[in-house]
Amino acid sequence: MKKSIAIKKDKYKSARGGYSRLLNIMCRKCENIVAVYQKDGPGNLRRMYMDRILSPDKLVDLQKKNIKDVKVLKCNKCGFIIGMPYIYVKEKRHAFRIFQDAVIKRIKKVDK
Ligand SMILES: [Zn+2]
Repeated sequence: MKKSIAIKKDKYKSARGGYSRLLNIMCRKCENIVAVYQKDGPGNLRRMYMDRILSPDKLVDLQKKNIKDVKVLKCNKCGFIIGMPYIYVKEKRHAFRIFQDAVIKRIKKVDK
C-alpha cells in the first residue's frame, strides 16, 4: 500500500504564513533523494527541522531524540555529508544545519 504524506499543520506553519510545500531533498553529489521535507513559508533552505522530515522512516521523529544521539545527516548512497544536527534556539527546535550547496531541492507534487 502506498503511504500517503500529509502536510503538517501547527503553530510553526502558521508562524510562516501558512504556505507549505513538500520538497524532495537530493544529494548534490549523486542526486539520490535523501529526504522528503515540508518547507513552510518562503526563503532559502538553510536548516531542516526534524519535525518536518516526512520520509524516510529512519529520519522521521528525530526531534523526539536527545540531540546528542542524532547522527550527522548524510547521503545514504554516497556518504556525502549534508547537515549537522543542532537546536534552533529561537524555537527550541531540533534541526539540521544544511551545508551550503549540499542539496538540490525539487518540489514534490502532492494531491490536495
Ligand atoms: Zn549522494
